[in-house]
Amino acid sequence: MTTWSNRVIADGKKIALVPTMGYFHNGHASLMQLAKQHADLVVVSLFVNPIQFGVNEDLARYPRNSEGDAARARQEKVDIIFTPTVEDIYPEGFDTRVMPGKITENLCGRTRPGHFEGVATVVAKLFNIIKPRVAVFGEKDLQQLAVIRKMTEDLNWDIDIRGHPIVRETDGLAMSSRNTYLATDERLTALCLYQSIQYARQLVQTGHQDTASLIDEITKQIESQPGTRIDYVSIVDNNDLLDQERVDENSVLALAVYVGRTRLIDNGRLLG
Ligand code: AMP
Repeated sequence: MTTWSNRVIADGKKIALVPTMGYFHNGHASLMQLAKQHADLVVVSLFVNPIQFGVNEDLARYPRNSEGDAARARQEKVDIIFTPTVEDIYPEGFDTRVMPGKITENLCGRTRPGHFEGVATVVAKLFNIIKPRVAVFGEKDLQQLAVIRKMTEDLNWDIDIRGHPIVRETDGLAMSSRNTYLATDERLTALCLYQSIQYARQLVQTGHQDTASLIDEITKQIESQPGTRIDYVSIVDNNDLLDQERVDENSVLALAVYVGRTRLIDNGRLLG
């Protein structure tokens, strides 16, 4: 991989990277399209990163479809699909971690200890192996994008980190490889995440600004759906991801909700 990157960089070409865990959907494809607009060559990495999964999480059953993914990436005309093995990335004796700081104290960082350390470590390795000048991440993983932006700035990588808006199904459900876990009734229940973002926007538009009461309302709405269990409902500042007391133009409603056994996340700006 690095030999290829060195060669094309010597030819004056700019590489964009789209890191993924595969099982592509239209969200992934949109990231590939955005990457193409900002570089000469696009590399998509496909690696289900074991160190970002907690012990009770879904590493073993994470959906995989390498042939389908290769076909989809070809359709999007990406230049390279980089599919390292776990041993390639973490050879015996691998013993270093990138440790993000305060940006992981809230939201998923609270309930998934070690997750963002795993993400930052693998993305740092991918940056060094692939040498992109641009890297594209989805806003669906709001905190992941913030972690990567901070790491890139703090570690002086000359890489333009670009976020892509959340790509949704026609009924509003945020696309996710994990949606494949949902049974038919759960798929319907899962709509409550997007609906609660819309509901919160309505409440804000009609003058509600106190985040505690907004969170209360949203919590009640989600809990009224059988089969759901809230991990968090938070209203945070988009820049530092810290809880806010009152809604302002930076406010984001961020949600993590179990529907059955499947943990889903979603988020949306409350104003603008
Ligand atoms: P994953 O394969 O789920 O790790 O996702 C790879 C990249 O695609 C990450 O940057 C995600 O944030 C992004 N992504 C996943 N789902 C969506 C979506 N529905 N809309 C936009 N980006 C997404």
